[in-house]
Amino acid sequence: MQAAAAVSPLEELEDVVDAVVAEPIDRLPDAALSDDVVALNRAVERLEAELIRRVQAFHQRRVAATWRLSTVGWLRSACRMSVRGAAHRVHLADAFAAAPAALVSARAGRSPLCNASMVARLAADVGAEAVAPIQEVLVDAAERFEPGPMRRLTEESRLLLDPDGSLAAADRAYERRWFACDETYGGVFVLRGELDAEGGTLVKTAIEALVAVPRPGDERTASQRRADALTDMASQQLHRGEHKSVSGERPHLTVTASLDALRDQAGTPLPELKGFGPVHRQIARRIACDVVRRDVTIAGDTAPGADVVPLSVGRSRRTIPAHIREALRLRDNGCRFPGCDRGHEWCDAHHRVHWADGGKTELSNLVSLCRRHHHAIHEEGWSISISDGAAVITPPPERVTG
Ligand SMILES: [Zn+2]
Ligand SMILES: [Zn+2]
Repeated sequence: MQAAAAVSPLEELEDVVDAVVAEPIDRLPDAALSDDVVALNRAVERLEAELIRRVQAFHQRRVAATWRLSTVGWLRSACRMSVRGAAHRVHLADAFAAAPAALVSARAGRSPLCNASMVARLAADVGAEAVAPIQEVLVDAAERFEPGPMRRLTEESRLLLDPDGSLAAADRAYERRWFACDETYGGVFVLRGELDAEGGTLVKTAIEALVAVPRPGDERTASQRRADALTDMASQQLHRGEHKSVSGERPHLTVTASLDALRDQAGTPLPELKGFGPVHRQIARRIACDVVRRDVTIAGDTAPGADVVPLSVGRSRRTIPAHIREALRLRDNGCRFPGCDRGHEWCDAHHRVHWADGGKTELSNLVSLCRRHHHAIHEEGWSISISDGAAVITPPPERVTG
């Protein structure tokens, strides 16, 4: 008499997964759907932990060497994992060897895999012996804590168990710091870099402090608002003018443009943004908007033929008279675009009739606009007027509906 071939748990699992993925979910009530997400996540995490256990054994026995491959290389080809995914699993498998109790907890579904991984990384970094006396406490915390407090606990433990190593790791992170702001094809800048904990926190805090709370009608994404905050930060820094000179000049934006180009006349040479290259005439009109006619037209007015005018933008060189700027501050007290709360110090003085078109630099022709809304007026086709002291904006024609 022959026994039926035993079905392995993994074969049974395949059958169960087949049944789960075949379930219709369209009619599922919200509450049941929520429960499903929680249950599936738990199952996925337990299986991921089990995968780590088996990768660990596979790696320790050097099974991949049979195929003349590294474990990472084998995972890539056999499981079609990305390099990153494969390296991550092997790294975790190594780390969990120093904290086996944490892996037991994750496989049992008692602690989320991310918490258990924090214990494993700590043990791998400072040594299994150093962690052994507190491993039970750490695993217990991994089973009860949210990931945030858990990270704090493991970082504190790292500092207590291995203060020199923690300092060395912080030093290495500091030494690795880098930042690049590169212009790519098409005039778009890409920012990349890596900062240590202190530097990164400073930058993040500064940007978060400047990110405006979205108002109704603000269509910017959170990411766009962060990008605007970064630009604002740079602009503020230059306007303050408390920095060293760059190649003999105070750093600021310098645009060189002919008056005809600023009058947006087609066929005129493109304005040049110093340090970048040619820019669209509308961009030059906006950058030039906050400087005053008197300062920039002298060359054109008094020297016929010398119609190329360097415009310098930056507080040290701004030439809107102080009393007009002060009157503007008293009248507008910040950006006049309805719903915007950017204060005066973030604003440009927008000439409603551009000085290049003969507009006067006087209060009646000026209105305070933040960078975002100054952009909306010059480059996105919005218009603004002041009627009985109230700002009235008109969207560009294609945005008007109904
Ligand atoms: Zn303007
Ligand atoms: Zn604004």
